[in-house]
Amino acid sequence: MNMNSMRIGSRLAVSFSVLLGLLFAVAAVSLYRFEGLAKVTEAIVDIQAKRVFLAYEANHHGQAAANCLLKLLQTTVRERRVVLYKEMDAELEAADEAVDKLGNTLQSMEDRSQLERLKALRAAYDERFRETVDLIELSGPAKAREQFEAGTQKALAALLKETMSLATEQQTRMRADLDRLRQAEAGARSLVIFLALSALLSGAVLAWFMTRSIVRPVGQAVNVAEAIAQGNLNQAVPEGKGDEVGQLLRALKVMRDSISNREEKILKLAYEDILTGLPNRTRFLEIFAALPAGSKGAIAVLDIDRFAMINNALGHTIGDRLLREIGLRLAMTVLKPNMTVRLWGDQFAFLLEGADQDQALTFVENIRQALLDPIVLDGQRLDVGGCLGIVLYPQDGEDAPTLLRRAEMAMRSAKRRHSNFAFCSDVGGDPTHEQLSLIGEMREALERREFIVYYQPKFNLLTNRMTHAEALLRWQHPTKGMISPMRFIPFAEQTGFIREITPWLLEHVIGHAAEWRRNGMSVVPSINLSAHDLLNPGLVGFVKGLLDRHGLAPDNICLEITESALMDDPELALKHLNEFSALGVKLSIDDYGSGQASLAYLKTLPVNELKIDRAFVMDVSTTPKNAAIVRSTVVLCHELGLTVVAEGAETQEELAWLRQSGCDMLQGYVIAKPMPLDVFLQWRAPV
Ligand code: C2E
Ligand code: CA
Ligand code: CA
Repeated sequence: MNMNSMRIGSRLAVSFSVLLGLLFAVAAVSLYRFEGLAKVTEAIVDIQAKRVFLAYEANHHGQAAANCLLKLLQTTVRERRVVLYKEMDAELEAADEAVDKLGNTLQSMEDRSQLERLKALRAAYDERFRETVDLIELSGPAKAREQFEAGTQKALAALLKETMSLATEQQTRMRADLDRLRQAEAGARSLVIFLALSALLSGAVLAWFMTRSIVRPVGQAVNVAEAIAQGNLNQAVPEGKGDEVGQLLRALKVMRDSISNREEKILKLAYEDILTGLPNRTRFLEIFAALPAGSKGAIAVLDIDRFAMINNALGHTIGDRLLREIGLRLAMTVLKPNMTVRLWGDQFAFLLEGADQDQALTFVENIRQALLDPIVLDGQRLDVGGCLGIVLYPQDGEDAPTLLRRAEMAMRSAKRRHSNFAFCSDVGGDPTHEQLSLIGEMREALERREFIVYYQPKFNLLTNRMTHAEALLRWQHPTKGMISPMRFIPFAEQTGFIREITPWLLEHVIGHAAEWRRNGMSVVPSINLSAHDLLNPGLVGFVKGLLDRHGLAPDNICLEITESALMDDPELALKHLNEFSALGVKLSIDDYGSGQASLAYLKTLPVNELKIDRAFVMDVSTTPKNAAIVRSTVVLCHELGLTVVAEGAETQEELAWLRQSGCDMLQGYVIAKPMPLDVFLQWRAPV
């Protein structure tokens, strides 16, 4: 198995086993070698020394015996010689003993033959020596001396020379053995050094290998992890081997991939509209902010006509599919570098880089064409259209939020005017300085009781009596005089201040109505509710509380709502309308015709009354198109059980025409303008 593919644990185990094995071998070999050396040295030194000693001993005793003999040769007194004989015998015996002992220790052939030679010399000497001794005793020392000098002395010299040579030989051999031993020791030392060096070398190699196979990949893993932590998800992750580091690297890769996937999903969620797959508002703002300074172009906001109606009538699933289809068509029409985004609900926005007013007009036409063909969903043909608000940058604003807001304002203005587009420059933009100061003063105005309720009669054309009246707000400003609600209500709605105005108005109007009832005047006042009011979850309870407090039946008041007020959150608005309806309060649809609502859609709302917008009532007696719309609306409303109110009739001709067309009620200057309460109470119908 390749070392690289082994697990780190196994790799470490193998590496350290090898190291330990080597070290153990070094220790064992050294110990064994040195112990062997010591023993051998001891043995060698022992035996050699013994041989040398014995050789010298033999030589020494030989010489001592010879000395005795020399003394004998000079000793004439026999008694003295007897002592010397004894002494000499002991010496000879000791010399023989040493030679015998030496013989026992010698093994080599060479040694043994030398020993034989020595013994022969010894025997020869012994013979001469005994002859000398015999001569001493028989012929006297003088004769013996002659013999001694002639033979014995030579035999003795030969013997001594031989023992001496043996001793020297043994000594030389001992030196040679010691030299050999020294060499063996030196060899052992080299071996130990070699083993130690190889242990060191293999240790170094193993350490290098460990570094390469563990530390380096771990370092790479650390680099990858750091790169991931810094958000760099494109950093390549090394392949890694089959070990733990390899597993770690693979885990890091999986982690990086899943982070990258998740990041992609998050980005998608953050920047993409889930329903249509188009970029969303956030993306739009980002892309716009990234445009080079001083860029020119246009932004258009598109609002789909009657979308809420379709959503309510056909269900949200169809509504969603319709939005998807619309998104698809828009995306196919609007090509790069231009961009389509879905802002929210049924609103789309377009970024037209470099476009001027003329190109924006061409764009309006392209969008109209794109939406011209009906969209078919489950066999149903749905006609879709939309209304565009257009801003040009940088002249209409520099940042995307401002431009989008102004484009939306232009779009709403286009809707009001029943046009399919409007430029921001044509509809006027943000509040003027005067309007801003009014916004600032609104709160104080409520406290200073500068708001006044005017009433405008809703004249019943069947009974020729005033049965209803609309409460309309006025602001009696201390310096600016009477201010029309058109100048401050839109801002009260935008700033949310309307949430304080409506309860104030409800309190007054319900109070007035209760008093009228007590005085026998059966007029039902209507109060306008804004989008904010319709989303206020406490308003139903508040109205019920007021009605209870004033002892007024719920059907003695009417609430007017516009279709556009329902659009912010149609579901919640409808929920509250149903609650009002269940309470028994009358509900009226205001400004009918100015928005996109169809009667089919209104049928789904719990309303009792419909007010046809002034735009259609105006000139109704002379404009056939308006006349046709009003007439068909009256017929349809009656079919649906709704009371029809015509708003804004200013002439007797219009009044006559409306009466003749079956309109139930009329609210307009031809009957009366809005008036303060006291004037209103005095007011009598002119017809
Ligand atoms: P609206 O609810 O459509 O009220 C009818 C408006 O038409 C009133 O304008 C009324 O004076 C005007 N009008 C009635 N007959 C005629 C006519 O024959 N000819 C012409 N030219 N105008 C006629 P006003 O009082 O200025 O109110 C304007 C709008 O302000 C109202 O429209 C309503 O949307 C809003 N508004 C007024 N008071 C309140 C309020 O208390 N709360 C809320 N939320 N909105 C209010
Ligand atoms: Ca109204
Ligand atoms: Ca109205």
